[in-house]
Amino acid sequence: MLPRINTFIKSSAFFQLARRPLHPIRTLTSTPPNMVKVMAVLYKGGKAAQEEPRLLGTIENKLGISDWLREQGHEFIVTEDKEGPDSVFQKNLPDTEILITTPFHPGYLTADLIEKSPKLRLCVTAGVGSDHVDLNAANKHKITVAEVSGSNVTSVAEHVVMSILLLVRNFTTGHDQAINGKWDVASIARDAYDLEGKVVGTVGCGRIGYRVLQRLQGFDCKELLWFDYNDIPADAAKSINARRVNSLEELVEQCDVITINCPLHEQTRGLFNKELIGKMKKGSWLVNTARGAIVDADAAAEALKSGHLRGYAGDVWNVQPAPADHPWRSMTNPLGAGNGMVPHYSGTTLDAQKRYADGAFDIIKRYLAGEPQNPANVIVENGDYATKAYGKRDGKA
Ligand code: NAD
Repeated sequence: MLPRINTFIKSSAFFQLARRPLHPIRTLTSTPPNMVKVMAVLYKGGKAAQEEPRLLGTIENKLGISDWLREQGHEFIVTEDKEGPDSVFQKNLPDTEILITTPFHPGYLTADLIEKSPKLRLCVTAGVGSDHVDLNAANKHKITVAEVSGSNVTSVAEHVVMSILLLVRNFTTGHDQAINGKWDVASIARDAYDLEGKVVGTVGCGRIGYRVLQRLQGFDCKELLWFDYNDIPADAAKSINARRVNSLEELVEQCDVITINCPLHEQTRGLFNKELIGKMKKGSWLVNTARGAIVDADAAAEALKSGHLRGYAGDVWNVQPAPADHPWRSMTNPLGAGNGMVPHYSGTTLDAQKRYADGAFDIIKRYLAGEPQNPANVIVENGDYATKAYGKRDGKA
């Protein structure tokens, strides 16, 4: 049964559900330009990128598209320098036509910066999640925002399952002992549990949320729950044996483990605030690999400190790179554990980098050739949202 459903999910029908274009046929209206300025904001790879050429998402390896762009006569600026008016990013924006940024080291394209970028026509997200662009401002200026949908969703779903397990099983306490010369089984086991018999729920049941529930099938959880304002096909829903709930409150009140898998948009920014976290079960676990700003940083740290949350894990932060004194670096539960944070890397495995580099290249080539984009990749275009995943809008969602 599962292989057939997988094929179905990978074929576009399920993808289109979350990303159905509002107008079936959209073409880029601009004349194919002869020479354009392209800028990529990527993370620094340093020694690792020199030693490992498959680290494509780095300033050193430039998504593997540098030679092609230059052979075609285009200008290609690649930088990690993205903060402040004197950064390479901001200084080059006014005459950039195609901007590529990656969620792992996002060049935050605010409404103000968009106003100062009259030539900008296309923003490409090398990865998934385009919240680093002010999408309403992009619409105002009819800038297309496209991402490589699906490119790293398996990578993230695997990370979610790993994070759930490491929290529930109190892995980090045991690992700390292993590498620090200690051996105190009771102090690990006093807060270690099985995932079997627990209730796990996802906020958002799109590509990642669905895959998380798929991957949890073998753990004999008491129940799997999902909340999403978009539907999923009946046979896809049936194959994961999960129950849909009608509200976020209903979800959080019932779950032992919550995993957040929705985009960051106006309706999800700060969604997990003190009040909502307060409605979660005492001693529950929260995993967020979606976007840091969906969770109120101080509220989560406080809830962990008080023991209301038993654990918090994820790879996304409200500011990236996170400052050295970010509360999520040092927060723990009353037993000094429960922190499963890592830098933002779940969706940038070497396997994922190949997929999102290829996908970004395809988006750019289509634009330069004046061809329409794959609708599944388009977030905003021609002044409107082409996806249903970035919040309910005017009853369209
Ligand atoms: P998707 O578009 O396939 O699914 C997102 C789902 O969230 C949609 O079904 C949508 O309806 C739902 N949703 C939106 N707002 C909601 C809300 N308020 N409540 C409940 N559901 C809501 O996207 P995806 O591929 O599953 O990715 C989801 C997000 O994960 C991305 O937008 C990105 O922010 C994040 N992500 C993180 C990484 C990483 O490396 N950590 C990598 C990829 C994606």
